[in-house]
Parts: sequence; C-alpha cells; structure tokens
Amino acid sequence: MRLSELKQYIVQRRWQVLILTLLLSVAVLLILLGRAFSWSGRTKDAELLTVVGPNNPAPEELNIEFTLLENSEMVDSRCAEALNAMLADCRAAGLSPQVTASFRTREGQNALYKDEVRSLVQNGLTEAEARVRAAETVGAPGASEHELGLAVDIRDAADLTDAEGAAVLWLRRNAWRYGFVLRYPEGKESVTGYRYQPFHFRYVGPDAAEQIETLGITLEEYVEMFYS
Ligand SMILES: [Zn+2]
Repeated sequence: MRLSELKQYIVQRRWQVLILTLLLSVAVLLILLGRAFSWSGRTKDAELLTVVGPNNPAPEELNIEFTLLENSEMVDSRCAEALNAMLADCRAAGLSPQVTASFRTREGQNALYKDEVRSLVQNGLTEAEARVRAAETVGAPGASEHELGLAVDIRDAADLTDAEGAAVLWLRRNAWRYGFVLRYPEGKESVTGYRYQPFHFRYVGPDAAEQIETLGITLEEYVEMFYS
C-alpha cells in the first residue's frame, strides 16, 4: 500500500482509527496503573526507603546491625549480601570496583564536612560559599545517607580519582538488579540537594530499585509518589 493510499484509508476510516487509538491508550494506561499499584505494595521493609538529605535529617537513634566488608568498610547488614554479589559480578565482568566510603557516624560526617569546608576556603571560597558547596558534595552532618549504613561510594580501583571509571559505569547500568540506585543523578540536584555523584549508590531493596530505575526518578520522588 502506498503512502497516499494509506492516508486515504485513514481518512475514510477515521472514526475506527480514533476509537482504536483511544482503546489502545486506555489499555496502556490500565497496564501502567496496574503495575504502579502492584508495585506500591511490594516493599516489605519501608525503612530501607528512609530519605536523608538537607531537608530530611538522619534519625538520631539508629539501631543498625553491621556487616564488615573486606576493606574494613561497614554497612547495614540488610544490604551486605546484595552489595557483595554486585561487587563480585562487577569483578567477574573484568572490572575493579572498590568501596571507598560506607557507614559514617554523625561525628565522622561532621569531621569530613569540616575538612571539606577548610579545604575549600584554602582554595579561595568564602566560608559561606564553602559551607554551601560542602553540603552539596560531602553533605552536612545529619544530612548524609552514609549515616544510615545503606549507602556506599564505589570507585574504580584502576583510578580512584576518576569518578566515572569503567567499574562505576558498570554499576550505574546494573546496580538496580541488586537493589541499589544511583542516588544523586545529573539533573536532579534541585530534588536531592546534592550535586551529581556518579559513585554514590544507595540500597533501597530490589523492588524499589527496579521501579525507581524504570521510572527514571529519585528516591525522594518515589517515596512522594508511592509512600506519602
Ligand atoms: Zn557517598
């Protein structure tokens, strides 16, 4: 059928085409809604979705059961198995991921933040500018997910200074399969309060990670959409 014939056919049968399009749209909408509703009931451990950031301080009292990682890093035991499986599969792909940060105490976060502010001031920023910048990168005390024990920074051991090394890019594509999400994506700075961090991954559990990945949203937006 030539293009002109096809156009004529559509014009002749425009009502049928319109109704068919409408029915297809409704079907797609129903499928999407069905998935969304079945999703919202699937996360068994809602605590894994705890949002911590500049507007959501980390809880003062945390009852964390820890698991020690190979290089004396420490995470909440609920994500240890998934993390080790992810690292093992990344290594099996011929890459060299290295956990460079994991759980931090409030004091540890405070020390890191102060060091960052000091170093930024040495590099020419005013104290106020340095505080803002440090809060957007390493995080102010109480505003870092690292205090939950559910977040890790993972870099490529081949070059620890390269924030987007091959291992990090592998993790970006595959982390959701293990229940982790890239927590501070590019373009979502106004939502997360953090600058883009290609190496910072957060455990939210496999269901939530798949949904966040599929929808292309942040944890803040996901919680707002399904759990508020
Ligand atoms: Zn981090």
